[in-house]
Amino acid sequence: MCDDQTRIYYQHLKQGELWLQYCLNCQEHTFYPRSHCPGCLDQQLEWRKSQGQGRVYSYSIIHVQSLADDDVPYIYSLVTLDEGVRLATRIVDCSPEAVHVDMGVEMVVRAINGQLMPVFKPVAGLKSQA
Ligand SMILES: [Zn+2]
Repeated sequence: MCDDQTRIYYQHLKQGELWLQYCLNCQEHTFYPRSHCPGCLDQQLEWRKSQGQGRVYSYSIIHVQSLADDDVPYIYSLVTLDEGVRLATRIVDCSPEAVHVDMGVEMVVRAINGQLMPVFKPVAGLKSQA
């Protein structure tokens, strides 16, 4: 992983924004930050702001603490962004009973175990039972 790319990524996260890299060659977004496109190895990746909208691709409820200050249970999830990239994240502000595959979610930035992370909550308007 390239330090410069990671730094840019976290600068945006600090402002509550998720930015993705976009390969002009493949015309695809890519995540996680890296120095070249995983598809064509081109290094001309462009930073673009994600709209932060996506859908739950899969999820599991985690009951076991892997880190001391993990808040269990929590919802570990793969979310597919509208931009087409899939990321491993957490669903927040949502009870384990309410989450479901294909649920519409939107990105919020939270500190998880002291580390800023893009996590997702149910889109506004949906009743959350959390
Ligand atoms: Zn590419």
